[in-house]
Amino acid sequence: MKRRGFLSTTLKTSGVLAIGSLPAFNIISRKKLYKDRLGIALVGLGSYATNQLGPGLRFTKNCYLAGVVTGSPDKAEKFAIDYNLDDKSIYNYDNYEEIANNPEIDMVYVAMPNNMHAEYTIRGLQAGKHAISEKPMSTTYAEGKRMTDAAAKTDKRLFVGYRLHFDPFHLEMMRLGQKQVYGKVLETDAAFAFPLTDKKRWRLDKVMAGGGPMMDVGIYALQGTIYTLGELPTAVTAVEKTKDKAFYSDIEGTLEWSMKFPSGTKNILRTSYEDGYNYVKARAEQGEFSVEPAYSYNRLAGTTPAGPMVFPRVNQQALQMDAIALSVMTKTPNPASGMMGLRDMFMIDKIYESMGTGKEVSLAGMPQVLDRM
Ligand code: NAD
Repeated sequence: MKRRGFLSTTLKTSGVLAIGSLPAFNIISRKKLYKDRLGIALVGLGSYATNQLGPGLRFTKNCYLAGVVTGSPDKAEKFAIDYNLDDKSIYNYDNYEEIANNPEIDMVYVAMPNNMHAEYTIRGLQAGKHAISEKPMSTTYAEGKRMTDAAAKTDKRLFVGYRLHFDPFHLEMMRLGQKQVYGKVLETDAAFAFPLTDKKRWRLDKVMAGGGPMMDVGIYALQGTIYTLGELPTAVTAVEKTKDKAFYSDIEGTLEWSMKFPSGTKNILRTSYEDGYNYVKARAEQGEFSVEPAYSYNRLAGTTPAGPMVFPRVNQQALQMDAIALSVMTKTPNPASGMMGLRDMFMIDKIYESMGTGKEVSLAGMPQVLDRM
């Protein structure tokens, strides 16, 4: 293949890769070098894979970068140099299935536009690998169901890239809310929004994204509310609040919704591509606790009635991938499961249904998956 030839040349000429081509190094396979770790192949080398997942894999203890799948020879070359990958660890979208013959790859991590998650996750599962799909798991519940069905059929584990389930600030929101440290939570307010106006971005394309900011960032507010309360909603009511309907013509520009919980806790959630906000707040009987900014990769800040939350800086992606890898190796459950992703797709479908009518929509039939402390 052209790209393979290209990479071989790079291997010979690059100072960095020359180290990787020393006979002594080649004798030891990466699997032996990283024994007791799972090998992950990143599928789709876009912004998140390049700037967060790849670098995150430099900090992991339970997994390592074992391969990449990309349509771009340039990106393949850059990853080969940056991560010392050899030719046999690099695949394209046509020969993706050949990962089945690569024992170093235990798991695929799909970080592509939302409407491609299902296809590439299922192809990875069918190649005999465990899989992580980036969030949102899919563009609809039906697509997500195909993914969980494929995992069951192939007897492989399926996860969603829910990094915040492993972040100390969010674990603290769960603890304070679920254990009622400041009494019963009476009210929550969660919102994530950022301005997005570049029409060339797939995130503004309804087919590729599956929807608007709800799919992209609203899902964090949805999750934050549920894991702070530690209970599942039974109904949703959504109202579209788009300011520029001419520009955001086929997706929501701004959306507000609320959920009905068995506890009766009041809540409001918001997401938008026309504004900027980034928080999760809970008002409990004995005071308010919150995280703001809440959903960024770092520099989160939290407050409680007892003072600020103080936690060391972490690499969320490394924590997430390590926890997932460990759960595979030890055959134990992990909160960022495919079933949790499916639960969220069920809710998002219903939120969009409600947005269409403005009426409350029942969540009867939703997968009953909950991350409880
Ligand atoms: P991106 O546009 O930067 O990358 C998308 C990748 O898919 C690119 O490598 C692109 O080449 C590839 N691709 C293959 N076929 C394509 C096609 N037909 N059109 C467009 N791209 C195509 O996007 P991103 O920001 O890296 O997001 C990728 C996924 O990761 C999304 O599902 C997103 O929701 C998710 N994401 C998650 C987080 C998080 O914090 N967990 C953060 C950012 C993105």
